[in-house]
Amino acid sequence: THPGGPREQLGATGSLWPSEPIILGPKESARQLVLRKIQELTIAGRQDPFMVADLDVLASRHQTFLQALPQVQPFYAVKCNSSPWVLFILAALGTGFDCASQGELEQVLGLGVAPSRIIFANPCKAISHIQNAARHGVQLLTFDSEEELAKVAQHHPGARLVLRIEARDSQSTFPLNAKFGAQLESCAHLLQAARELGLAVVGASFHVGSDCQTPQSYRQAIADCHRVFEMGRRVGHCMSLLDLGGGFPGTEGSEAKFEEMATVINAARAQYFPEGTGVQVIAEPGRFYAESVCTAAVNIIAKKASLEPGDHRKMAYYLNEGYYGAFRIFLREPVPRIPIVVKEFPSEPRLFPCTLYGPTCDASDKLSLKEVQLPELDVGDWLIFPDVGAYKTSMSSTFNGFPIITVYNAVGPQLR
Ligand code: PLP
Repeated sequence: THPGGPREQLGATGSLWPSEPIILGPKESARQLVLRKIQELTIAGRQDPFMVADLDVLASRHQTFLQALPQVQPFYAVKCNSSPWVLFILAALGTGFDCASQGELEQVLGLGVAPSRIIFANPCKAISHIQNAARHGVQLLTFDSEEELAKVAQHHPGARLVLRIEARDSQSTFPLNAKFGAQLESCAHLLQAARELGLAVVGASFHVGSDCQTPQSYRQAIADCHRVFEMGRRVGHCMSLLDLGGGFPGTEGSEAKFEEMATVINAARAQYFPEGTGVQVIAEPGRFYAESVCTAAVNIIAKKASLEPGDHRKMAYYLNEGYYGAFRIFLREPVPRIPIVVKEFPSEPRLFPCTLYGPTCDASDKLSLKEVQLPELDVGDWLIFPDVGAYKTSMSSTFNGFPIITVYNAVGPQLR
C-alpha cells in the first residue's frame, strides 16, 4: 500500500511530518533521483546538500532479516533513524520498536503501534520517562542496576523487565559495554533484588556493540543469557524473552557478514533456547534496516591547494555538510568514507591526498582523521555518499547556523 499516512498519526512530538514521498519513474533508481536532484539544483543555481531516502529498501531489508533469522522478531531501534516515513513503513511491515526515551515512545505510539510492540531499551531512564511508559501501557523495560529497579518498583511496578547483560564488544566499531550491561556475576543478586521488590523479570538482553565485527560475540552472549535465565528461574521469575540487541551490519556488501551472524545466532538459539521451550526471541536492529536507505549529495563550497615538500600537492575541500550536520559519526568510523565524484574526466584522473572538512568554523569539523585520495575538484562540484541512513540525520545539529539536511523520501511506482 502507498504509505500516505494521515497527519494525525504523527503523535505528540511530531510536527515534522515531511511531505509525501516522491514516486520514482518506472525505471528510475534512487541513485538516478540523486543525480536528477543535483541537476535541478544546479539549474536553479543552488548547491544545498540533500539526502534521498529510498524507502523501498526497508521492505527488502525486512525480508532479508526474516529469511535469515526466521525465529527472531525485529524491534527496530528508533534512535538509528527516526524519520516519520521510516517508522511509518516499518510499522506497516509489522516490526516492533526499541525506544530510548519518552520522545521516541510517543513518536511510535503516535503511529498507532500497540504498546506490546515496544521495548523501552534504555537501561538508565529518567523517572518521568518511566512514568510515561507506565501511563501508555509500555511494559517491556530494560535495566542493569539495582538503582533502576528501585525507580521501576516505585513508578512502574507492572513492568516486564529485561536484564541487560554485558557482552563482548571490543571488536565492534561502536562498543557500548562501558556504559551499559550488568556483569554476569552480579545478575543473581539483581534478579533476587527484583523479586524482593515484587518486580517481574521476564528475560535477558545484550548488545554486542554497533557494527559488530565478530559473529561469535552473539554466541557467547546467548550462552550468558541462558545462564541468566537459569538464575532467574531459580528465584521464581518466569523467564521467556531473549533480546539479541543490535550490531548487525547495514552497508551494501555486508550481506555475507550478516549471514554469518545469522548462522551463529540460529545455532546458539537451537542449543540454548530450543524450540518448544516457549522463549520469544527479539532483536533491536538499527543500522541493518536504515544504513542503505539513504544517499547524501553534498557540494564543495571552498577549496585550498597546498604544496608539500617534494612538490606533492594536497587538497582541502570544504563541504556544505559535515561533523555537526549529518556526518558526525564518520569521525568514529575506522575507515574513511570515499565519496563518488559527480564529474566527468577526459581520462583517468590523477588522485591527490585530500582532507574533507565540514562547513562550520570549528577546525575539528572534518569527515575523517585520515586523508582520502580524490581527483582535483572545484568549488561547485558534487560528491555522493551512499549508505548514510544510520545515525546521520538523527545526530544532526544546526551548529553555526547550517540547517538540518533536506531529505527527499522516495518510493518505487509499485507502491503508488
Ligand atoms: N539497541 C540498543 C539498546 C542500542 O543502544 C542500539 C544502538 O546504540 C541499538 C539497539 C541499535 O544498534 P545497531 O544500530 O547496531 O543495530
